[in-house]
Amino acid sequence: MAKAGPIVCSFCGRDKKEVKVLIAGVTGHICDVCISQAFKIVNEEAGAQGNQQVQHALNVLKPHAIKKHLDEYIIGQDEAKKILSVAVYNHFKRVSHVADAKEEIEIDKSNVILVGETGTGKTLMARTIAKLLNVPFCIADATVLTEAGYVGEDVENVLTRLLQAADYDVASAERGIVFIDEIDKIARKSDNPSITRDVSGEGVQQAMLKLLEGSIVNVPPQGGRKHPDAKMIQVNTRNILFICGGAFDGIDKKIAQRLNTQAVGYSASVATDEIDKSNLLQYVSPQDLKSFGLIPELIGRLPVLTYLKPLDRATLRSILTEPKNALIKQYVQLFKMEGVKLEFEEAVLDLIVDKALEFKLGARGLRGICESIMVDFMFDIPGDEKASKFLTVTLDYALNKLKSSRLTQLHVA
Ligand code: ADP
Repeated sequence: MAKAGPIVCSFCGRDKKEVKVLIAGVTGHICDVCISQAFKIVNEEAGAQGNQQVQHALNVLKPHAIKKHLDEYIIGQDEAKKILSVAVYNHFKRVSHVADAKEEIEIDKSNVILVGETGTGKTLMARTIAKLLNVPFCIADATVLTEAGYVGEDVENVLTRLLQAADYDVASAERGIVFIDEIDKIARKSDNPSITRDVSGEGVQQAMLKLLEGSIVNVPPQGGRKHPDAKMIQVNTRNILFICGGAFDGIDKKIAQRLNTQAVGYSASVATDEIDKSNLLQYVSPQDLKSFGLIPELIGRLPVLTYLKPLDRATLRSILTEPKNALIKQYVQLFKMEGVKLEFEEAVLDLIVDKALEFKLGARGLRGICESIMVDFMFDIPGDEKASKFLTVTLDYALNKLKSSRLTQLHVA
């Protein structure tokens, strides 16, 4: 039998006395020095893989290809899709540029701000991009954020969600996309910031600056309040793309005001008779965001600004049937899985759109209306051997279902 020798690290041969910790494995030992070296190698490897992924994305996903992919899922909103495609492409170019680190010109971050009514596709756009790029994605709601130390969530918690989406793989989270919804709700509450502390408005905007510009942030792994004893994960936000969205209710008045005053002077960029008053959002500028109550520093860190159009009847009708995972296609698929061929009368689709417009729920309302019409079928058909293998939803049936559903109470005056 071999004589038991001194216990040494099986990797570097250091003796137990020379190291702080020696961990025993099944057949050998490893010391703390080798562990930290191995950790470094693993991290470098993960980084290299990430860079390869970025390079691949750059090679394959040119702005045209990104927009084409968005077209499959999002109806209309061409301008926003184009601007977002370019922003995302430039973002990845920037990330690969940083990875090279040889060039001297640094490309700025292209964080995006999307202005548009609720339910017009802002979140859908950010989510679709993240899926295409295969990067971690999370949605955060700006309304729950407050300045550190006040009731509500700390701004860093936004990154906790991203870490969770990346399964706590920090390198992968550092290349992710964060969608911050309802950014308009943290607008400055009053014009005079000195009267009272504005902890959920300007205070949050100030706190967000650090996140958006690219810095190393201490993130609580489980979210919640920061605690001096809690272990933090350091996340570098330099290559995280932030897309912010907001309805900015009433911003059209600020735009109109600006356009009117501008049109008088020499600096008129749009002639008054050319202004399309029915869609003022298309003229939105950083100046209007400032009038609305966002601080200039925050606006500066969201350099790509675009808008989403309100959805009209024709767009809602297309949303119902055309996108790759359109609602109607989803119902057809659900019934196909039960062996039933489902069809809708054209008039039913028009009715669904009419109701969505009537209830002023935008595209988000389509789902609820469809559910009210379909719920009895979805309840009765599974397991019913005698059910017909063909099902056509008729206008009479749909009208009947809607009349008796609680949706009618949703009517917005
Ligand atoms: P927002 O973030 O602007 O409030 P969402 O992106 O969450 O709105 O949209 C809500 C739902 O409405 C989406 O899940 C999608 O089904 C539908 N929708 C909205 N706009 C569009 C669009 N332009 N094309 C396709 N679907 C849309």
